[in-house]
Amino acid sequence: MRIMARDVNIRGVACVTTNLVDEARKRHGTSPTASAALGRALTGGALLGSLLKKEQRVALRFEGNGPLKKILVEADSRGAVRGYVGVPDADLPPRNGKLDVSGVLGRKGLLIVTKDLRMKEPYSGMVELRSGEIAEDLAYYLAESEQIPSAVALGVYVEPDKSVTAAGGFMVQSFPPRNEEMVEEMIRQIGKVPPVTDLLRRGKSPEQVLEQIFQGIPFDFLLQHDLSFECGCSKERVERALITLGRDEIATILENLGQADVRCEFCLQSYHLSGRDLRGLLDEAAAKVVLH
Ligand SMILES: [Zn+2]
Repeated sequence: MRIMARDVNIRGVACVTTNLVDEARKRHGTSPTASAALGRALTGGALLGSLLKKEQRVALRFEGNGPLKKILVEADSRGAVRGYVGVPDADLPPRNGKLDVSGVLGRKGLLIVTKDLRMKEPYSGMVELRSGEIAEDLAYYLAESEQIPSAVALGVYVEPDKSVTAAGGFMVQSFPPRNEEMVEEMIRQIGKVPPVTDLLRRGKSPEQVLEQIFQGIPFDFLLQHDLSFECGCSKERVERALITLGRDEIATILENLGQADVRCEFCLQSYHLSGRDLRGLLDEAAAKVVLH
């Protein structure tokens, strides 16, 4: 859900990602703290993805010094989001009554954002982690690397049985020429908004979350789309990836293993490549070499 304030250069996006995050949690068997970390990153990815144009993609890579090691998320403009973490069962005791996301990811590390904008070179930006809490890190990236002052809130509620029953977030950004007074008002408003998981657990929709933030500021609803955990992997893509590894690599696999099972890291789907498949790829890779 995206809205834009009328006559003021402020843009807001909000989303509910409960099903998407719970699907990721089930697929990857993440611990409660890992579910919160992955869920926040998936939600952040969904928010950034919603601002892209058709066919564009964004990838977020969090690398931290905590036991989770890393989080990878990819999202596109249609609302397909996928992601995984380095160590799914990494967990920590709660801190101040909350899941210790910054502890599990680590407070030191990097956030790398890559955008495939369908141009020659992908756009890439990198910042150091600010806190390891994900939302703050994303806001810092947007301000530092893209020069867009942004407020980002992300929340994931994990039940004692480990299921995710509320997840979502919002992002508010201001663009030049800025109406400083309006931005100040917005910051005050955002400060008064309860934690996003509280809003979602009370059944608030993305529209209602944005209405609460944009109180008193005239705005238009611009766009709405569905979000889902969706992976674009296929046997064909796995084969193409193997071909790019080159002829020698495929020959080694064929010689040593006779076949290959390749698992997609994002969705854990396994693809079986028989000896016959591999010999076919070997021919294709060889043909490529000749063509060069
Ligand atoms: Zn996949």
